[in-house]
Amino acid sequence: MTEPDHHRTAVLVVGGGIAGLSAALFLARQGVRPILVERHPSTALLPQARAFNPRSMEIYRAFGLAEAIGGRTSILTDLPEMIGADTLAGQERFRFDLLAQVRPPATLSPTDWGMIDQDELERLVRGATERSGADVRFGTELVSFVSADDGVTATVRDLASGGEYRIHADYLVAADGNRAGIRTRLGIGADGPGVLLHVANYVFDADLGAALRGRRFLLAYLDQPRAGTTLSPLREFGRWALAVPYRPEAGESLDDFSERRCAELARLAVGDPGLDITLVPPVPGWTRKVTGTRIGGWVAHRYRAGRVFFVGDAAHVVPPSGSYGANTGIADAHNLAWKLAAVVRGQAGDALLDSYEDERRPVAQVTLEQAMRLLHGRHEGTGATAVDDLTMIFGYRYDSAAVLADGPAPDGPVEDPRKPSGHPGLRAPHVWLDRAGTRLSTLDLCHDAFTLLVGPDGAEWTTAARTAAGSCGVDLRTHHIGVELTDFEDRWLAAYGVTRTGATLVRPDGFVAWRAGDLPRHPAQELRQALRRLLARDARHQP
Ligand SMILES: Cc1cc2nc3c(=O)[nH]c(=O)nc-3n(C[C@H](O)[C@H](O)[C@H](O)COP(=O)(O)OP(=O)(O)OC[C@H]3O[C@@H](n4cnc5c(N)ncnc54)[C@H](O)[C@@H]3O)c2cc1C
Repeated sequence: MTEPDHHRTAVLVVGGGIAGLSAALFLARQGVRPILVERHPSTALLPQARAFNPRSMEIYRAFGLAEAIGGRTSILTDLPEMIGADTLAGQERFRFDLLAQVRPPATLSPTDWGMIDQDELERLVRGATERSGADVRFGTELVSFVSADDGVTATVRDLASGGEYRIHADYLVAADGNRAGIRTRLGIGADGPGVLLHVANYVFDADLGAALRGRRFLLAYLDQPRAGTTLSPLREFGRWALAVPYRPEAGESLDDFSERRCAELARLAVGDPGLDITLVPPVPGWTRKVTGTRIGGWVAHRYRAGRVFFVGDAAHVVPPSGSYGANTGIADAHNLAWKLAAVVRGQAGDALLDSYEDERRPVAQVTLEQAMRLLHGRHEGTGATAVDDLTMIFGYRYDSAAVLADGPAPDGPVEDPRKPSGHPGLRAPHVWLDRAGTRLSTLDLCHDAFTLLVGPDGAEWTTAARTAAGSCGVDLRTHHIGVELTDFEDRWLAAYGVTRTGATLVRPDGFVAWRAGDLPRHPAQELRQALRRLLARDARHQP
């Protein structure tokens, strides 16, 4: 071991997948300079997720990434169709447009789905994270850690030199993926259906023109060589990714997938026994051509252990049906980052951090149920779900101490976002506004800091906000709808559920924190009390 080299940071992020990179980006933009360690030498080299939902796109839009993502969309952008058949050459059992039911209308969101491959997105987010000042260390592995009352001491290894050194952090964000090494070391388990399927993945080049007969698709569910097989075009038509289930419980393993057998299985899937197939490494230069994936579902019992927080697949795993996995991890990171930043800056009490689990764990549980239903329906081409997908994406409601409800909680954990109530705990509704000829969304006003959206006759709120923010020592932006911004669709009052003298306080993650239906007698005092409660300023909890 080399001489210990001490490094200090407010937040150490372990894992440079999409959840860890996003957490580091969001923290850096909040003014906290995290250190991120990732054992791989680079970001992912193969796509997993190929569609990012409009809520994730709203988040990235707030960080200025929408244009870059739009410029890197994949070949799948124009063909979001899934098909089902016995073999590719056989008759289609079903075909449906995956996004037909889940594209948000312009009244619901300023964004759409981001059809970008996950590896491309990770590269973009890594670049933005580094430019934002985060200290990103790829090729660096977390070896061990000790979490104490006053911080976390991590031992990490630089895999190129073999040298080890220690990093002292106030908090550790464990974004270390579905193997969840950190959570496991802390003895925190998970509940759910568990591992449902083991899948062997490989990539091959072949001319499938005869079997395709001019058809195109995003993903084919095939029954050959085994039910649950999927085939999808990779980057270009002519290169294909095949995923074939195998059964460890029947003694099968990845070792059974020799190149020759892989080619035979691919011919069975396509339904063309004479097909010319060339297996290619999934990544140029790799000798290994077959990789294994576990498809399954579980949610961690806890999202926080003292100074350690679990985000992304480390906290929850859902089957790929419904495109929820990575998207849920991005939303976790977004929820946690502003809270950590507020505590690190001394603006919030530690108890604010408890709201991360209170808010995000129930969302993962509902998401897992949703993805399981979709998984069962997918092979039949059906998709019966308890909650419609747009509601799952935009309509989940947080119920925690970081939300101040102003009446009885609405029924159920979700609300139809097409009929917004503006109730605290829900994502701030999107409403188009106009500022001096430029169209912008309410969401463009509400990120990075607390924001007070004020009704047209609520001028008193501006002074009240300045007084309350000054006394709490927090940034609070104020926007006067109907004065500074034109509500040209006349939707804002109804969407936010306030009168012309009312105001809504939106958190830095774009969720409604508190609202006053109309102007109270002492607006500064009410706002100050709300901010103090939201930021757990009077709570005594210690980590
Ligand atoms: C076939 C497939 C299709 C999918 N499709 C979709 C989809 O359409 N939409 C969607 O939203 N999701 C989809 N998902 C899920 C999505 O890919 C995952 O949810 C997402 O990659 C999880 O990101 P993460 O950052 O939490 O974890 P990971 O991507 O697993 O990243 C964790 C990182 O931590 C690193 N790490 C672990 N331990 C250490 C350590 N000790 N030291 C340093 N680094 C460490 C790992 O090397 C890894 O890079 C799909 C998944 C699969 C398998």
